[in-house]
Amino acid sequence: MSQAEAQPGGRGNSTDHVRRHNLAVVLGLVHRSQGISRSQLTKLTGLNRSTVAALVGELVERRLVLEVDADVRNQVGRPSPVVKPGPLAVAIAINPEIDAITIAVVGLGGEVLKRIRYATGHEPTAREAVNICAAVIEGLRGELETSHRVVGIGLAIPGLVRSLDGVVRLAPHLGWVDEPVAEMLAEATGYSVVAGNDARLGTLAESTFGAGRDLTDFIYLNGGASGIGGGVIAGGQALTGAAGYAGELGHTLVNSQGIVCHCGGIGCLETEVSRSPLLALVGLTDADADELENALLASESADVRAEVHRQLDFLGVALRNAINTLNPEAVLLGGFLGSLYAVAPAHLNALVAHQPLRASREGVTIGRAALGSNLLMIGAAELAFGAVLADPAAF
Ligand SMILES: [Zn+2]
Repeated sequence: MSQAEAQPGGRGNSTDHVRRHNLAVVLGLVHRSQGISRSQLTKLTGLNRSTVAALVGELVERRLVLEVDADVRNQVGRPSPVVKPGPLAVAIAINPEIDAITIAVVGLGGEVLKRIRYATGHEPTAREAVNICAAVIEGLRGELETSHRVVGIGLAIPGLVRSLDGVVRLAPHLGWVDEPVAEMLAEATGYSVVAGNDARLGTLAESTFGAGRDLTDFIYLNGGASGIGGGVIAGGQALTGAAGYAGELGHTLVNSQGIVCHCGGIGCLETEVSRSPLLALVGLTDADADELENALLASESADVRAEVHRQLDFLGVALRNAINTLNPEAVLLGGFLGSLYAVAPAHLNALVAHQPLRASREGVTIGRAALGSNLLMIGAAELAFGAVLADPAAF
């Protein structure tokens, strides 16, 4: 932000415009940092101290942030108050998958306040998913409306979503084609609804709050019940491609002798690396990401270990291609891919370390997405918070 933009310079509408813009800048910094001192805000915005104090005061009045006394230990001089996200504004985040629908209440700063997993036992139709979400939200409504204000609903969809109106163009594992899910859910709940691709929202969350927050170039790959999705941050920006569908690393070729994928291709990463054989080997039929990981880590079965290594070998092929194409500083693994890595980290590290093009892989670290099983909830909530973050004065 330039100084000219930041300083109130005009009158009437333009002063108001500058104030609203500055409110958004300050709230954005508090949101992303999850808590920041007033003196840091002054430094980062380039605004003077009294302007920052007034902006924070207005955000406190709107209950979007709260100010707490700084921890005075290890401080020299007068401590600056710490500005934190306030508890009033919440988003409802939803992720439908083939066997369950997860619904969460998320506060500013990416704080997951409540998470409910509703097992469906089968692929829900769009109508079923909307009905289940509406019923769960109805059950929460009393609590939500006494203690919070709901800014809206964010949907993380395992498929291709038209961002303009939240129509799910294709969610192959759910069998949804051209379903106006955002509109249906808005009608059923009375809240505004925004929808996006799950992996892209995971990348956004990881980049805003997680293991990617200090990285400008990374690949994120998430494994869920509905396959493998990905996203790429390149030069600090999300790589979108011409129509917004970049990052479909789950459908890159890893085995030319492999089976046919639902996308029509042969030997895609997500046909070779998938959750269901892992669940079967540890004797689970239905489990969330944490339960599956605990079962994999606890297992001493040779069959489990062999399957984990087989899947990591194919993941290594995909990573070799992606690393040589994108030259990232890190690869972040989420969902069951993070669990595979947790079971045998040395196996995957060795595959990446021994790929032939040394210059590309040098310095690449493999890591786990930091936001764990809350990742998609936080990403979906980011969508719903978009309007408040862009113009807090309208809240
Ligand atoms: Zn495919």
